[in-house]
Amino acid sequence: MTINKVVDVHTHMYPPSYISLLKSRKTVPRIHSDTSSGDRLIILSADDDESLDQNARGRPIGPEYSSLSHKLAFMDNHSIDISVISLANPWLDFLPDSEAAETAKRINDDMNEQCSLHPGRLFAFGTLPLSGSIDEVVAEIRRLKTLKYMRGVIMGTSGLGHGLDDLALEPVWAALQEQAQMVFIHPHYGLPNDVYGPRAGEYGHVLPLALGFPMETTIAVARMLVSGVWDRHQELNVLLAHSGGTLPFLAGRIESCILHDGRLKKDGKLAGRRTVWDVLKRNVFLDAVVYGEAGLKAAIEVSGADRLMFG
Ligand code: ZN
Repeated sequence: MTINKVVDVHTHMYPPSYISLLKSRKTVPRIHSDTSSGDRLIILSADDDESLDQNARGRPIGPEYSSLSHKLAFMDNHSIDISVISLANPWLDFLPDSEAAETAKRINDDMNEQCSLHPGRLFAFGTLPLSGSIDEVVAEIRRLKTLKYMRGVIMGTSGLGHGLDDLALEPVWAALQEQAQMVFIHPHYGLPNDVYGPRAGEYGHVLPLALGFPMETTIAVARMLVSGVWDRHQELNVLLAHSGGTLPFLAGRIESCILHDGRLKKDGKLAGRRTVWDVLKRNVFLDAVVYGEAGLKAAIEVSGADRLMFG
Protein backbone atom coordinates (compact mmCIF):
# COMPACT_ATOMS: atom_id res chain seq x y z
CA MET A 1 0.00 0.00 0.00
CA THR A 2 1.31 3.45 -0.86
CA ILE A 3 1.07 6.02 1.85
CA ASN A 4 0.69 9.46 0.36
CA LYS A 5 1.78 12.35 2.46
CA VAL A 6 0.77 15.94 1.90
CA VAL A 7 3.93 18.07 1.90
CA ASP A 8 3.69 21.86 1.89
CA VAL A 9 6.83 23.28 0.26
CA HIS A 10 5.86 26.95 0.28
CA THR A 11 5.28 28.10 3.82
CA HIS A 12 7.21 30.82 5.60
CA MET A 13 8.21 31.23 9.22
CA TYR A 14 10.02 33.89 11.16
CA PRO A 15 12.13 32.11 13.77
CA PRO A 16 12.70 33.97 17.08
CA SER A 17 16.20 35.09 16.05
CA TYR A 18 14.81 36.76 12.89
CA ILE A 19 12.04 38.49 14.85
CA SER A 20 14.59 39.98 17.24
CA LEU A 21 16.74 41.05 14.29
CA LEU A 22 13.77 42.85 12.68
CA LYS A 23 12.79 44.46 15.99
CA SER A 24 16.32 45.81 16.45
CA ARG A 25 16.31 47.61 13.09
CA LYS A 26 15.53 51.28 12.43
CA THR A 27 15.17 50.93 8.63
CA VAL A 28 13.10 48.52 6.51
CA PRO A 29 12.67 45.64 6.76
CA ARG A 30 11.79 46.05 10.42
CA ILE A 31 9.14 45.36 13.02
CA HIS A 32 7.61 48.51 14.41
CA SER A 33 6.07 48.17 17.85
CA ASP A 34 3.31 50.54 18.77
CA THR A 35 1.08 50.43 21.83
CA SER A 36 -2.13 50.98 19.86
CA SER A 37 -1.48 48.91 16.73
CA GLY A 38 0.81 46.22 18.17
CA ASP A 39 3.75 44.78 16.24
CA ARG A 40 3.72 45.55 12.53
CA LEU A 41 6.07 44.19 9.90
CA ILE A 42 7.19 46.92 7.53
CA ILE A 43 8.91 45.70 4.38
CA LEU A 44 8.32 48.56 1.93
CA SER A 45 10.05 51.92 2.37
CA ALA A 46 6.82 53.65 1.29
CA ASP A 47 5.08 52.20 4.37
CA ASP A 48 7.81 53.36 6.73
CA ASP A 49 6.36 56.79 7.21
CA GLU A 50 5.52 58.11 10.68
CA SER A 51 2.77 60.33 9.23
CA LEU A 52 0.74 57.34 7.98
CA ASP A 53 -2.09 55.87 10.00
CA GLN A 54 -0.41 53.25 12.24
CA ASN A 55 -2.85 50.61 11.01
CA ALA A 56 -1.93 51.30 7.39
CA ARG A 57 1.77 50.72 7.91
CA GLY A 58 2.95 47.25 6.84
CA ARG A 59 0.97 44.35 8.22
CA PRO A 60 0.30 43.05 11.69
CA ILE A 61 2.76 40.38 12.70
CA GLY A 62 1.49 38.10 15.41
CA PRO A 63 2.37 34.65 16.74
CA GLU A 64 1.07 32.98 13.55
CA TYR A 65 4.32 34.08 11.87
CA SER A 66 6.67 32.64 14.43
CA SER A 67 4.82 30.19 16.65
CA LEU A 68 5.33 26.50 16.05
CA SER A 69 2.06 25.64 17.75
CA HIS A 70 0.21 27.86 15.28
CA LYS A 71 2.04 26.20 12.38
CA LEU A 72 1.23 22.70 13.62
CA ALA A 73 -2.42 23.62 14.23
CA PHE A 74 -2.62 25.04 10.69
CA MET A 75 -1.10 21.84 9.29
CA ASP A 76 -3.52 19.64 11.24
CA ASN A 77 -6.45 21.79 10.21
CA HIS A 78 -5.57 21.42 6.51
CA SER A 79 -4.39 17.77 6.66
CA ILE A 80 -0.79 18.73 5.86
CA ASP A 81 1.59 16.00 7.03
CA ILE A 82 4.87 17.79 6.46
CA SER A 83 5.87 21.43 5.99
CA VAL A 84 9.19 22.52 4.55
CA ILE A 85 9.39 25.92 6.22
CA SER A 86 11.45 28.81 4.89
CA LEU A 87 12.37 32.26 6.05
CA ALA A 88 10.16 34.89 4.44
CA ASN A 89 11.39 37.62 2.14
CA PRO A 90 13.58 39.64 2.15
CA TRP A 91 15.64 36.98 3.97
CA LEU A 92 19.07 38.44 4.76
CA ASP A 93 19.48 40.48 1.56
CA PHE A 94 19.61 43.75 3.52
CA LEU A 95 22.39 42.87 5.98
CA PRO A 96 25.78 44.61 5.95
CA ASP A 97 28.44 42.18 4.70
CA SER A 98 30.16 42.01 8.09
CA GLU A 99 27.04 40.59 9.78
CA ALA A 100 25.76 38.27 7.06
CA ALA A 101 27.61 35.03 7.77
CA GLU A 102 27.05 34.99 11.55
CA THR A 103 23.39 35.93 11.20
CA ALA A 104 22.75 33.23 8.59
CA LYS A 105 24.31 30.62 10.89
CA ARG A 106 22.21 31.78 13.83
CA ILE A 107 18.97 31.75 11.86
CA ASN A 108 19.65 28.43 10.14
CA ASP A 109 20.50 26.82 13.48
CA ASP A 110 17.31 28.30 14.91
CA MET A 111 15.18 26.89 12.03
CA ASN A 112 16.84 23.49 12.35
CA GLU A 113 16.22 23.51 16.10
CA GLN A 114 12.54 24.36 15.54
CA CYS A 115 12.18 21.44 13.11
CA SER A 116 13.80 19.10 15.64
CA LEU A 117 10.96 19.84 18.08
CA HIS A 118 8.53 18.16 15.67
CA PRO A 119 10.64 15.50 13.99
CA GLY A 120 9.18 14.21 10.76
CA ARG A 121 6.65 17.02 10.46
CA LEU A 122 8.92 19.98 9.83
CA PHE A 123 11.88 20.42 7.50
CA ALA A 124 13.40 23.68 6.27
CA PHE A 125 15.03 25.59 3.47
CA GLY A 126 18.05 27.47 4.83
CA THR A 127 18.99 31.03 4.09
CA LEU A 128 22.33 32.21 2.68
CA PRO A 129 24.52 35.17 3.70
CA LEU A 130 24.37 36.61 0.17
CA SER A 131 25.67 40.03 1.20
CA GLY A 132 28.77 38.38 2.68
CA SER A 133 31.77 37.05 0.78
CA ILE A 134 31.43 34.26 -1.74
CA ASP A 135 33.54 32.02 0.53
CA GLU A 136 31.10 32.60 3.38
CA VAL A 137 28.14 31.75 1.14
CA VAL A 138 29.79 28.53 -0.04
CA ALA A 139 30.81 27.61 3.53
CA GLU A 140 27.21 28.03 4.72
CA ILE A 141 25.93 25.82 1.88
CA ARG A 142 28.33 23.09 3.04
CA ARG A 143 27.42 23.62 6.70
CA LEU A 144 23.69 23.37 5.94
CA LYS A 145 24.26 19.84 4.73
CA THR A 146 25.26 18.93 8.31
CA LEU A 147 22.00 20.27 9.78
CA LYS A 148 19.57 17.39 10.02
CA TYR A 149 16.35 19.06 8.88
CA MET A 150 17.63 21.28 6.08
CA ARG A 151 16.45 20.37 2.60
CA GLY A 152 17.94 23.17 0.49
CA VAL A 153 18.02 26.95 0.46
CA ILE A 154 15.62 29.77 -0.28
CA MET A 155 16.90 32.68 -2.35
CA GLY A 156 15.55 35.90 -3.81
CA THR A 157 16.17 37.08 -7.33
CA SER A 158 18.91 39.60 -6.56
CA GLY A 159 21.59 37.00 -5.82
CA LEU A 160 24.73 38.88 -4.82
CA GLY A 161 23.09 42.11 -5.94
CA HIS A 162 23.21 41.72 -9.72
CA GLY A 163 20.62 39.03 -10.39
CA LEU A 164 20.87 35.30 -10.89
CA ASP A 165 22.75 35.40 -14.23
CA ASP A 166 25.71 36.97 -12.39
CA LEU A 167 28.85 34.93 -13.17
CA ALA A 168 30.07 35.66 -9.63
CA LEU A 169 27.39 33.16 -8.50
CA GLU A 170 29.11 30.27 -10.28
CA PRO A 171 30.76 28.90 -7.08
CA VAL A 172 27.37 29.10 -5.35
CA TRP A 173 25.58 27.09 -8.06
CA ALA A 174 28.50 24.63 -8.08
CA ALA A 175 28.35 24.16 -4.30
CA LEU A 176 24.56 23.73 -4.32
CA GLN A 177 24.85 21.12 -7.06
CA GLU A 178 27.71 19.35 -5.31
CA GLN A 179 25.78 19.24 -2.02
CA ALA A 180 22.58 18.18 -3.84
CA GLN A 181 20.66 21.08 -2.30
CA MET A 182 17.58 22.41 -3.98
CA VAL A 183 17.24 26.18 -4.44
CA PHE A 184 13.80 27.65 -3.78
CA ILE A 185 13.70 30.84 -5.90
CA HIS A 186 11.20 33.33 -4.52
CA PRO A 187 10.28 36.91 -5.50
CA HIS A 188 10.49 39.97 -3.31
CA TYR A 189 11.44 43.04 -5.32
CA GLY A 190 8.66 43.10 -7.95
CA LEU A 191 8.96 45.47 -10.90
CA PRO A 192 9.77 49.19 -10.95
CA ASN A 193 6.67 51.08 -9.75
CA ASP A 194 6.35 53.20 -12.88
CA VAL A 195 5.24 50.20 -14.98
CA TYR A 196 1.90 50.38 -13.15
CA GLY A 197 1.18 53.93 -14.30
CA PRO A 198 0.01 57.10 -12.58
CA ARG A 199 -3.27 55.56 -11.35
CA ALA A 200 -1.60 52.64 -9.57
CA GLY A 201 -2.51 54.03 -6.16
CA GLU A 202 -6.21 53.52 -6.89
CA TYR A 203 -5.77 49.77 -7.23
CA GLY A 204 -4.31 48.99 -3.81
CA HIS A 205 -1.70 46.23 -3.94
CA VAL A 206 -3.33 44.33 -6.82
CA LEU A 207 -0.89 45.02 -9.66
CA PRO A 208 2.41 44.58 -7.78
CA LEU A 209 1.14 41.43 -6.04
CA ALA A 210 -0.57 39.81 -9.02
CA LEU A 211 1.95 40.80 -11.70
CA GLY A 212 5.11 42.20 -10.14
CA PHE A 213 6.10 39.10 -8.19
CA PRO A 214 5.44 36.52 -10.96
CA MET A 215 7.15 38.70 -13.58
CA GLU A 216 10.13 39.15 -11.28
CA THR A 217 10.48 35.37 -11.00
CA THR A 218 10.00 34.87 -14.74
CA ILE A 219 12.70 37.42 -15.60
CA ALA A 220 15.13 36.02 -13.01
CA VAL A 221 14.82 32.47 -14.34
CA ALA A 222 14.90 33.57 -18.01
CA ARG A 223 18.20 35.33 -17.25
CA MET A 224 19.56 32.09 -15.74
CA LEU A 225 18.43 30.23 -18.86
CA VAL A 226 20.02 32.60 -21.40
CA SER A 227 23.24 32.82 -19.42
CA GLY A 228 23.54 29.02 -19.54
CA VAL A 229 23.46 28.31 -15.78
CA TRP A 230 21.98 24.84 -16.46
CA ASP A 231 24.46 24.12 -19.26
CA ARG A 232 27.26 24.58 -16.72
CA HIS A 233 25.43 22.98 -13.74
CA GLN A 234 23.36 20.24 -15.25
CA GLU A 235 22.28 18.72 -11.92
CA LEU A 236 21.25 21.98 -10.25
CA ASN A 237 17.66 21.67 -9.06
CA VAL A 238 15.42 24.65 -8.45
CA LEU A 239 11.93 25.02 -7.04
CA LEU A 240 10.20 28.06 -8.51
CA ALA A 241 7.65 29.98 -6.46
CA HIS A 242 4.18 30.52 -7.93
CA SER A 243 4.79 27.91 -10.64
CA GLY A 244 7.62 29.95 -12.10
CA GLY A 245 5.59 33.13 -12.51
CA THR A 246 4.68 33.04 -16.19
CA LEU A 247 7.47 30.68 -17.23
CA PRO A 248 5.28 27.70 -18.23
CA PHE A 249 3.22 29.97 -20.48
CA LEU A 250 6.21 31.80 -21.99
CA ALA A 251 8.65 28.87 -22.32
CA GLY A 252 7.99 28.40 -26.04
CA ARG A 253 8.50 32.07 -26.78
CA ILE A 254 11.71 32.23 -24.74
CA GLU A 255 13.07 29.13 -26.53
CA SER A 256 12.15 30.56 -29.94
CA CYS A 257 13.75 33.93 -29.21
CA ILE A 258 16.97 32.21 -28.09
CA LEU A 259 17.10 30.03 -31.23
CA HIS A 260 16.62 33.00 -33.55
CA ASP A 261 18.89 35.47 -31.85
CA GLY A 262 21.69 36.76 -34.07
CA ARG A 263 23.90 37.85 -31.19
CA LEU A 264 23.74 34.48 -29.40
CA LYS A 265 24.41 32.69 -32.71
CA LYS A 266 27.37 34.95 -33.56
CA ASP A 267 28.86 34.43 -30.07
CA GLY A 268 28.59 30.65 -30.50
CA LYS A 269 26.21 30.31 -27.56
CA LEU A 270 23.69 28.10 -29.33
CA ALA A 271 25.98 25.14 -29.88
CA GLY A 272 25.41 22.31 -27.42
CA ARG A 273 22.97 24.28 -25.28
CA ARG A 274 20.15 22.63 -23.41
CA THR A 275 16.69 23.76 -24.42
CA VAL A 276 14.30 25.56 -22.09
CA TRP A 277 12.02 22.50 -22.32
CA ASP A 278 14.81 20.17 -21.23
CA VAL A 279 15.68 22.32 -18.20
CA LEU A 280 12.00 22.57 -17.25
CA LYS A 281 11.66 18.78 -17.31
CA ARG A 282 14.95 17.89 -15.60
CA ASN A 283 15.98 20.71 -13.25
CA VAL A 284 12.85 22.65 -12.42
CA PHE A 285 10.21 21.91 -9.81
CA LEU A 286 7.20 24.20 -9.63
CA ASP A 287 4.95 24.91 -6.71
CA ALA A 288 1.19 24.94 -7.20
CA VAL A 289 0.55 28.42 -5.81
CA VAL A 290 -1.17 29.82 -8.93
CA TYR A 291 -4.81 30.22 -7.86
CA GLY A 292 -6.26 28.82 -11.08
CA GLU A 293 -6.67 25.60 -13.03
CA ALA A 294 -5.35 26.93 -16.35
CA GLY A 295 -2.05 27.88 -14.69
CA LEU A 296 -1.80 24.47 -13.01
CA LYS A 297 -2.39 22.70 -16.32
CA ALA A 298 0.38 24.74 -17.96
CA ALA A 299 2.74 23.89 -15.09
CA ILE A 300 1.96 20.17 -15.39
CA GLU A 301 2.35 20.34 -19.16
CA VAL A 302 5.88 21.80 -19.06
CA SER A 303 7.44 20.12 -16.02
CA GLY A 304 5.23 17.11 -15.38
CA ALA A 305 2.75 16.31 -12.61
CA ASP A 306 5.54 14.63 -10.61
CA ARG A 307 7.45 17.94 -10.48
CA LEU A 308 4.54 20.09 -9.39
CA MET A 309 4.64 20.51 -5.62
CA PHE A 310 1.91 21.42 -3.19
CA GLY A 311 2.34 24.74 -1.46
ZN1 ZN B 1 6.16 32.96 -0.34
